[in-house]
Amino acid sequence: MGPVPCEVGDLKELQTLDVSTNRLLSLPERLHLCLSLQILTADRNRLWNVPRHLCQLPSLNELSMAGNRLAFLPLDLGRSRELQYVYMDNNINLKGLPSYLYNKVIGCNGCGDPIQVSEMKLLTFSSGQLTVFLPAEVKAIGTERDPVLPLQELAMRHLYHACRHSDPDFNFLSPVSLPRSLLELLQCPLGHCHRCSEPMFTIVYPKLFPLRETPMAGLHQGTTAVSFVAYCCSTQCLRTFDLLS
Ligand SMILES: [Zn+2]
Repeated sequence: MGPVPCEVGDLKELQTLDVSTNRLLSLPERLHLCLSLQILTADRNRLWNVPRHLCQLPSLNELSMAGNRLAFLPLDLGRSRELQYVYMDNNINLKGLPSYLYNKVIGCNGCGDPIQVSEMKLLTFSSGQLTVFLPAEVKAIGTERDPVLPLQELAMRHLYHACRHSDPDFNFLSPVSLPRSLLELLQCPLGHCHRCSEPMFTIVYPKLFPLRETPMAGLHQGTTAVSFVAYCCSTQCLRTFDLLS
């Protein structure tokens, strides 16, 4: 099979898509418009990015991207209750799984291989001996010492809450009053706080939970270098988030 046609988003009835073993560098942008898609398989390609729009697919039940070049996953992956099976095996630079994936069926063998030396220029977050890459679109990492949000983040969150009820698609802000890039961010935030669901646009407060220290460790041979990552919206949510509660 050749490149995935960009018109794939127009296939509203499509339920299963398998584009494995195709040397794909990216997935078609309009894939998130396939509202009936239940199973997406893209194993053994060269994907470095799971588009965050895929988190909005309402029917997606199984996502498989084993054997790619992923170093991070979208913050909201697994937020949908429908998504229950996520297979990410053999992505050696992938060290962080969104905490939403805890308690789902996941495959992560061959991820976070500690021998690999990565040259990727991505933001990283370390806790103890563990380091995870953050999604490329995250601009800043907050810690316990940063209780005050950056101005752009404050403005985006305020705009989101002020406008969402009158127009959920924020279309009335386009194209004059807001640059297109900010409008798109408003329509599809980086993710939502894993503690309180507040949308996040530029900064996240990550908290790591090593998989080998969770009750799930036995399922993964107990040796994995992968962590669950809770992406929080503030120092308060960072303090109070608990994976096991
Ligand atoms: Zn929060």
